[in-house]
Amino acid sequence: MANTRTVTVINGDGIGPEVSAATIRVLEALKVPLEFEFKDAGTEVVAKFGTNLPHETVEAVLKSGVALKGPTGTVVGGGLPSANVGLRKRLDLYSSLRPVKSVPNVKTRYENVDLVVVRENTEDLYVGLEHIIVPGVVEALKIITEKASTRIARFAFEFAKKNGRKKVSAVHKANIMKLSDGLFLDCCRKVGREFPEIQYDEVIVDNLCMQLVKDPTRFDVLVTENLYGDIVSDLCAGLVGGLGMVPGANIGERTAVFEAVHGTAPDIAGKGIANPTALMMSAVMMLEWLDLKDEAIRMQGAIQKVYGGEAKVRTGDLGGSATTREFTDAIIAAL
Ligand code: NAD
Repeated sequence: MANTRTVTVINGDGIGPEVSAATIRVLEALKVPLEFEFKDAGTEVVAKFGTNLPHETVEAVLKSGVALKGPTGTVVGGGLPSANVGLRKRLDLYSSLRPVKSVPNVKTRYENVDLVVVRENTEDLYVGLEHIIVPGVVEALKIITEKASTRIARFAFEFAKKNGRKKVSAVHKANIMKLSDGLFLDCCRKVGREFPEIQYDEVIVDNLCMQLVKDPTRFDVLVTENLYGDIVSDLCAGLVGGLGMVPGANIGERTAVFEAVHGTAPDIAGKGIANPTALMMSAVMMLEWLDLKDEAIRMQGAIQKVYGGEAKVRTGDLGGSATTREFTDAIIAAL
């Protein structure tokens, strides 16, 4: 096929292979001009490769420039470093973009949530620099640089400008972490001055959490360091129906990895009941990034149609009884 682009697919762990297969089925039904190459990562491939992030997987994404990824598990305490963090660092996917939008007929406390979390993806406490100083005392280093903070701030403002967004709010705790979060804020302010048409304000992260629960409609684009962004995105997912509903993209200069916000969901893995919407919506973001606009509109339209439709095809997390396959069949029928 002419102009066929290769997409690296990483199925991942837990519900990863289930939501990934569902999403690929929809993409194939759309007859997208894409070829899928499957590569491994995650805890389930450690026995085979001796690592959760095989070199050939990183090389494949570097070569294709684009990946669709299912969640990969990380051991709590001990164990190998996270494959996610490793992939984001190795490919310099410095920006994590997470649109959080109400979906028709998915009943939550709010009906008109429409905000975007832009999370810095390469530094902060996620650099994994932890040391035992003496038994019983551990030091973890939070790294914040001018370069990464300026880069993510510029990404957030450019995203806002390109997408007709009105306001960027910088999320921080500079009242306590005066130097590190202070530097992040300085960078956001400086970049903000280059975008006079976009409103800019600042919000302390704990206050943000309270405000989001009370009235998420007052926020537009949130730009955050790595850790705050991780936590705030899960909170935001809860505002629109849960983790099954929020897509994401990890974007660098040349490479992008599209993955849902959710994890491996070990409690429901292997049961065929996972909600594939979040990865499907991540695939819509991927189609847009690849400039396959018509396909993106069709896939997004099918998701809206299924949620907006009378038949109420819903997976268990949203109170329905559809299996992953039944939900996917409904999406394909709505294309
Ligand atoms: P989780 O997101 O896997 O699950 C939290 C809850 O949400 C569970 O009850 C789960 O059943 C539910 N849920 C999540 N996605 C769902 C879906 N698509 N459909 C229906 N229900 C869904 O969070 P966790 O339990 O904290 O993490 C499990 C593992 O996932 C950990 O090892 C963690 O490190 C990893 N993780 C990976 C990623 C990633 O690869 N990007 C992201 C987050 C967590």
